[in-house]
Amino acid sequence: MLPEVGSVWLLRLLRDIQLAQFYQPILEELNVTRPEHFDFVRPEDLDGIGMGRPAQRRLAEALKKHRSGLKSKNWVYKILGGFAPEQKETTPPSDNTQSLPEPEGGLKCLIPDSAVCRGELLGSGCFGVVHRGLWTLPSGQSVPVAVKSLRVGPEGPMGTELGDFLREVSIMMNLEHPHVLRLHGLVLGQPLQMVMELAPLGSLHARLTAPPPTPPLPVALLCLFLRQLAGAMAYLGARGLVHRDLATRNLLLASPRIIKVADFGLVRPLGGARGRYVMGGPRPIPFAWCAPESLRHGLFSSASDVWMFGVTLWEMFSGGEEPWAGVPPYLILQRLEKDRARLPRPPLCSRALYALALRCWAPHPADRPSFSHLEGLLQEAWPPEGRCVRDVTELGALKMESGDPITIIEGSASSHSPDSATWKGQNGRTFKVGSFPASAVTLADLGGLPATRPVHRGSPARGECRQGSIDGDRVKAKLRDPPPARGQRRGEPLQKMKGISKSLESVLSLGPRPTGGGSSPPELRHARAVPQGPPGLPPRPPFASGSSQPSQTPREQPPWPKREPPHSHPMGAPGASKATVPSGGLSPDSEFQRRIMEVELSVHGVTHQECQAALRATGGDVVSAIRNLKVDQLFHLSSRSRADCRRILEHYQWDLSAASRYVLARP
Ligand code: AMP
Repeated sequence: MLPEVGSVWLLRLLRDIQLAQFYQPILEELNVTRPEHFDFVRPEDLDGIGMGRPAQRRLAEALKKHRSGLKSKNWVYKILGGFAPEQKETTPPSDNTQSLPEPEGGLKCLIPDSAVCRGELLGSGCFGVVHRGLWTLPSGQSVPVAVKSLRVGPEGPMGTELGDFLREVSIMMNLEHPHVLRLHGLVLGQPLQMVMELAPLGSLHARLTAPPPTPPLPVALLCLFLRQLAGAMAYLGARGLVHRDLATRNLLLASPRIIKVADFGLVRPLGGARGRYVMGGPRPIPFAWCAPESLRHGLFSSASDVWMFGVTLWEMFSGGEEPWAGVPPYLILQRLEKDRARLPRPPLCSRALYALALRCWAPHPADRPSFSHLEGLLQEAWPPEGRCVRDVTELGALKMESGDPITIIEGSASSHSPDSATWKGQNGRTFKVGSFPASAVTLADLGGLPATRPVHRGSPARGECRQGSIDGDRVKAKLRDPPPARGQRRGEPLQKMKGISKSLESVLSLGPRPTGGGSSPPELRHARAVPQGPPGLPPRPPFASGSSQPSQTPREQPPWPKREPPHSHPMGAPGASKATVPSGGLSPDSEFQRRIMEVELSVHGVTHQECQAALRATGGDVVSAIRNLKVDQLFHLSSRSRADCRRILEHYQWDLSAASRYVLARP
């Protein structure tokens, strides 16, 4: 039987290593039709089709040779790390790129466009839309995923959007933590797509503001989320990263009791010994969540993330309220610094937890606890759990029935006589919050939560006294019933809130300085800050390419989409050919089709039409067409010149995957 054009490469490869007998089973049982499908083939799968381990090693070696280009072929396979654990990138010295280091970590996977099927819209963010999707592995197994696509306008994505998108990829590809959203891979198509772990329950903010009959989230669960968040943030901090956009809208619910930190578009590495990141210019930042030093000087650090953690805690316990709602952005800094105002304690928040938030909001970054310290502090402030021992029906008291689980928000087992004391808590059955006689509840250690301890809350928590008495009353007077934000009511879904952070321009570029009073022109607050280039030229590349290319020529227009218009195929409709390839001579038609297939198989994310056009441009030379397309792909993935991209690809022996990893790891 003759192979289909699309799988000729497989037959050739297997023939070369005397394993042609496995052609059919590999094709039909393992569904391998493209070289990168070997990424997902495990040794057990090959065992399953009767291929012995020595033969498997030969196959791995053959794939490796094709990847490294050692085998003399007039076409280059793209093999994205199949059998990857044993493979080591070969990086022979090259004149211009000897200094290029190996990529650290690795792009988890380049995923073929055809393997991802997009479904319903889940949300939209600053630079893209997110769809629910299904990622089909070569084994046929389908994995539910979320697919974030870079928004592309008529002239392609804005420089900053592409930059943020790629930065998000390059950050996420190196992260692995139970409470950090996982990146599965990248589709190098148009638009660029990130394939991520799906958080089926959506954002925490949407959950917090979901209208009845959805019950509110129990206090104990909120505490659990805070602990998960502190752990994830400690992890990011330990990796030298600052998130800069910590908020409940960026926490996703992977399951009812598991949150994941997401949205890494604003994440930056902390530079230098001082462990901080200084904003280079006007960019959108989430004012109401920001620490004073971020608002005043554009300074971000783990300590400013801790400040944001405090605001996120406040959001959680306020049912997803908008912090500083109704306060104009330019006044927020004044309120924080001059008035020493702080967000008020939400009714569901215990004094102990509020004291912890106040510590996160210490004016001086050095006075704020670290995330690892916060994990311990949370443990101490954990609300004790109890169980109701008798029905409570008294007027004004929290209604409860014997056996109800009760989370104690304020109360002490020792500071009062239980007979006379009144505690405040949440009934875990009804989710209602209120006061009740302490004698109606016995403290218990319920499974699943940390060892609980009665909390002494007879007097105001440390910090609250200082802040609360100076500022708290005044703040409370003004903020207890904060006016709804323009266009937003309590309980409205996240969709209506979107843009709270993203649409706000940096305070660095606002008209009146926050301490100077006056009012900011409203249009400034909603203008998207985009670095401007000279008129008539495409937007500035998303990241500075550094000193290596001071004289880099501007990119050709248009920067995106790069595609040449598809030409009509003189010998038949593109993609229509199902020509078979006999070992003997080929007709010119099928030979051209075969070359197109070769090019298509060799360059990730290109279309049939692009391969056609590339082959025409090179007079049918397959190797040159492949290389030109790879240069194109890398060019659009980075801020580098085409010449640089070519150099990098040469260095990596035209392995697009390795070259992509290199540029993504060095934005
Ligand atoms: P982002 O662009 O990351 O801000 O995402 C925009 C919105 O899409 C979020 O607010 C979520 O509602 C939704 N979303 C993003 N990523 C995921 C995911 N992995 N799973 C489910 N929903 C998501």
